[in-house]
Amino acid sequence: MNILVINCGSSSLKFQLINSESEEVIAKGLCERIAIEGSRMVYTPKGGEKQITVAPMPDYTAAIQMVLAALTDEKTGVVKELGEIGAVGHRIVHGGERFASSTVITEEVLKAIEECNDLAPLHNPANLIGIRACQQLMKDTPMVAVFDTAFHQTMPEEAYLYGLPYRYYEDYKIRRYGFHGTSHSYVSKKAAELLGQDYESLKLIVCHLGNGASVSAVKNGKCVDTSMGLTPLEGLIMGTRSGDLDPAILNKESGIYGLSEDYSSDFRDLEEGYVEDKENCIRAVDAFCYRVAKYVGAYAAAMNGVDAICFTAGVGENSGFVRSLICKYFGYLGVALNEEENEKRGEALIVSTKDSRTKVLVIPTNEELATARETAALVQK
Ligand code: ADP
Repeated sequence: MNILVINCGSSSLKFQLINSESEEVIAKGLCERIAIEGSRMVYTPKGGEKQITVAPMPDYTAAIQMVLAALTDEKTGVVKELGEIGAVGHRIVHGGERFASSTVITEEVLKAIEECNDLAPLHNPANLIGIRACQQLMKDTPMVAVFDTAFHQTMPEEAYLYGLPYRYYEDYKIRRYGFHGTSHSYVSKKAAELLGQDYESLKLIVCHLGNGASVSAVKNGKCVDTSMGLTPLEGLIMGTRSGDLDPAILNKESGIYGLSEDYSSDFRDLEEGYVEDKENCIRAVDAFCYRVAKYVGAYAAAMNGVDAICFTAGVGENSGFVRSLICKYFGYLGVALNEEENEKRGEALIVSTKDSRTKVLVIPTNEELATARETAALVQK
């Protein structure tokens, strides 16, 4: 079955059409500047050239209409008719406490997602608009919601409660939720596969280090803690988000961008500066790596040990440099990196030595494929 995976942001829409049997990406693309002047669609069919269409997209329905037209286009399309799209999987940022797993979308589900709007005011409304637009254009196609928060719903109370009056939790549901769940779930399962061990008997720490960054502790196949909180701002130092800080400190341009004195939020630039001995770049990268190492140490303690540490997302997958700096903190875990393997890119790999007591893995994340799998599993029941 062909699954259309949709990720609706506040002014953009990313999509992939994935065949759920072969898990091949048949087409993918992005609509940018929706409802803003200068909207355009980037579309790449499998094996074909990237195409850029500049055309007005006054709303999400117009954007999705363009996507569907591209997918079914006589020349550049990948399916003959919309009937060949068996289901749509929507990435939803916040499912609150209501959703501990993906679910087929019904009117009741839409209402429950809407009730989580306050918890993610920038994201959930955009996600909902995306669903409504798809429903309008693909009336009989089943739709599935895949939540960023769902995987973390297994956290125990001591991990998700803040040190606040308990009524804040009872009355307003103020607690740790965690994000990037689709990635943490995908990568931890893949790690078990790569290690050739049973997912349900492993202690794993997943470091999702992208523009947004989070760490999770996955014990016996269940998330037991994660660094993002009520919102995706808590935890690690990120591209432009501060991560943990004393709540009394106000800030605007934070993260590695702020730490590097506005040099860059992109690790490629910072790495270059680091090698050239630029003080601001060294400061930003060292602070970032230290914070990751501190969380890994905390989660090793939370799980009373760790079998493998997994790196994923833009920085985690691509920067052997950053991985190596972080792993320098893990002598006490018996970590020994295989520097040659650690320089490789683009595939799932064990980058620690054979004797390394705790294994270190690099696993390219694939949130779209994970969403397609969840969607297929629910609509093929
Ligand atoms: P997002 O959170 O937006 O999904 P990604 O996971 O795609 O982000 O990560 C994007 C970040 O990855 C970039 O901002 C950049 O800092 C980093 N990155 C990408 N490629 C490299 C590389 N080759 N070396 C170091 N960092 C990289």
